[in-house]
Amino acid sequence: MQTIDDPSAIQRRCESLRRDGKTIGLVPTMGAFHEGHVSLMRWARADNDILVVSVFVNPIQFGRGEDFDSYPRDLDGDLAQAEQAGVDLVFAPSAEAIYPKGFQTYVDVTEVTKGLCGASRPGHFRGVTTVVAKLFNLIGPHRAYFGQKDYQQSVVVRRLVADLNMALDIVLLPTVREADGLAMSSRNIRLTPPQRRAASVLYASLSRAETRIRDGERNAATIFEDVRAMIETEPLARIDYVAVCDPETLQPLDCIEGPALVALAVRFGETRLIDNFLITAS
Ligand code: AMP
Repeated sequence: MQTIDDPSAIQRRCESLRRDGKTIGLVPTMGAFHEGHVSLMRWARADNDILVVSVFVNPIQFGRGEDFDSYPRDLDGDLAQAEQAGVDLVFAPSAEAIYPKGFQTYVDVTEVTKGLCGASRPGHFRGVTTVVAKLFNLIGPHRAYFGQKDYQQSVVVRRLVADLNMALDIVLLPTVREADGLAMSSRNIRLTPPQRRAASVLYASLSRAETRIRDGERNAATIFEDVRAMIETEPLARIDYVAVCDPETLQPLDCIEGPALVALAVRFGETRLIDNFLITAS
């Protein structure tokens, strides 16, 4: 495994691999690996000749007052886990290398970024799509792998790829969870023990929504209210949003007739956690 921090060096290396006919899989990450990241690497390892993982805490996707400075970082630990997972190349650039002096070009997906996390984190997805476009240009992957935990991100990135005619496949993989159902996240380590116990209400509320939809509930407002009320039984939880929406357009649903996305963002102290279920009314 090789670690590269220079954008031109990774670009040259990947160009030469592609010229040799190798397929390249990319797993973009912000590091502080957990089993969710590793599962993406395993899938990507199996599908491609070359596996590239990027580790970059992208400053422009954090708003003012958000947790850029305190975001967990552990490059040495990440490199050990990447090696174990069979990664060929780790791209770990500095912020200055990605956004050198004079940088002024941003990529903006306009519609599917408006709701959910886009509403509570203005500018977040513009930062995501800009860095993802740069990573795709530098690495030229045949496939890029994303986790369902950040479901809106995957919708936004698919839109970016379709709208800008980028020639790669976006692969979406299931959310990896802790034993009590909490979605794994680099931010979970910042929860205090009581907050960590309280956070299991997120999975419990989504599971309950799933049961109710499977049992025939079709009114999105009823599901919304149910999830909201269940989270509010937990005194340490502060809801940022709960939404029941169309998984493609991310527009709110009135009636659940086919696939529905039940998504939420909830704060426990300073830590904001997100999760979602894709549920199909049958
Ligand atoms: P991050 O480092 O948090 O930006 O995440 C990098 C990639 O890993 C994104 O595609 C995430 O959706 C994905 N990911 C994060 N947590 C999980 C999880 N618990 N299960 C599956 N994928 C995840």
